[in-house]
Amino acid sequence: MRITDLRVFRMAAPTGGSTNWMFVRIETDEGIHGIGEASLQYKDDALEAELLDFRKFLIGKDPFRIDHIWTSLYRRVTWTGGAVTISAISAIDLALWDIKGKALGVPVYELVGGESHDRIRIYANGWFGGADAPESYAEKAAAAVADGYTAIKLYPFSGTQGARQDRLSRGTAVVKAVRDAVGPDIEIAIDIRGRMNMWSARRVAQRLEPYDLAWLEEPVMFDNVDAIAQLAREVNVPVATGEQLYTRWEFRALLEQNAVGIIQPDICHAGGMSELRKIAAMAETYYVMVVPHNSNGPISTVASLHLDMSIPNSYLQEVFVNWLPVYGEALTNPLVIEDGHCRPPDGPGWGTDIDEAALAKYPPVAYTPVESEPYLQF
Ligand SMILES: [Mg+2]
Repeated sequence: MRITDLRVFRMAAPTGGSTNWMFVRIETDEGIHGIGEASLQYKDDALEAELLDFRKFLIGKDPFRIDHIWTSLYRRVTWTGGAVTISAISAIDLALWDIKGKALGVPVYELVGGESHDRIRIYANGWFGGADAPESYAEKAAAAVADGYTAIKLYPFSGTQGARQDRLSRGTAVVKAVRDAVGPDIEIAIDIRGRMNMWSARRVAQRLEPYDLAWLEEPVMFDNVDAIAQLAREVNVPVATGEQLYTRWEFRALLEQNAVGIIQPDICHAGGMSELRKIAAMAETYYVMVVPHNSNGPISTVASLHLDMSIPNSYLQEVFVNWLPVYGEALTNPLVIEDGHCRPPDGPGWGTDIDEAALAKYPPVAYTPVESEPYLQF
């Protein structure tokens, strides 16, 4: 079998911002195609160009040689790595696993190791739309739990790096209201998105100690793993990180610190199915669990579920539950979540595909400037 073409297409993402989800479709001379996802928010154009640059190296190649292709794309040039290159490699890697699964007639999770789990527990993100006051968060959290979810995440501390007293109090009141509403047996994660400095993060952790958090996510930025490890050792709340790290080499530096119990690699950004399995195996040697980050589209979600099924140390899968209706429209074989759990759709490869005709309803959007760029506030 040989690769004959690589094509890129996009759809508007229901994220509330001007971002798209981007997919890559790789064709072969045997009529089998594979689908990968390459969403990169505001760097879509750069990512599309990178994918088309890689296209010339892929035409004529045997799509079964996945590790070899991964390494050749990563090592081919002297200056490699970074968001654009690794996201492009991730998308290609995903499409190649889909091709191989279809060609051999088995689901990807079967191909890469078989079932380590019967089904995957979902942690709900995006359940809080429109919530502002602690009472409305409490109401929506109770509704998510009534829908069957046993783990939920929220972002109650928006704003700048230095967290003022009033902001700390407001965020803490939201967490208290949510804990009171859902009871002691639901896992609650708080995501800071790297938007605090060490001083603020220490204060937040101190405030949140009584609420028995599953984890505090990216309390500080990802760039300095020594700093995040130092913080993780100091505070009495479990710290998780990893959604902005790439490849086994960046995760090595984090894992060697022995400071976090959960890592959150992203299958569309950290290197695809191949790389996440390697990262997960490394994590296993440090007794660390993998909770894949997933703020992307339907193929990201499906591919993450295949990974989760196949590795022993997966714990939860992130899903924006408010996007499930759009995932349902975009996928030929939709995801079914029951009792807060999910399996990949049945069938070879991913068990599903992108319904390109259905995407007509979601034409790609252009970037619209917004007044506040949160990452620029310090
Ligand atoms: Mg996050």
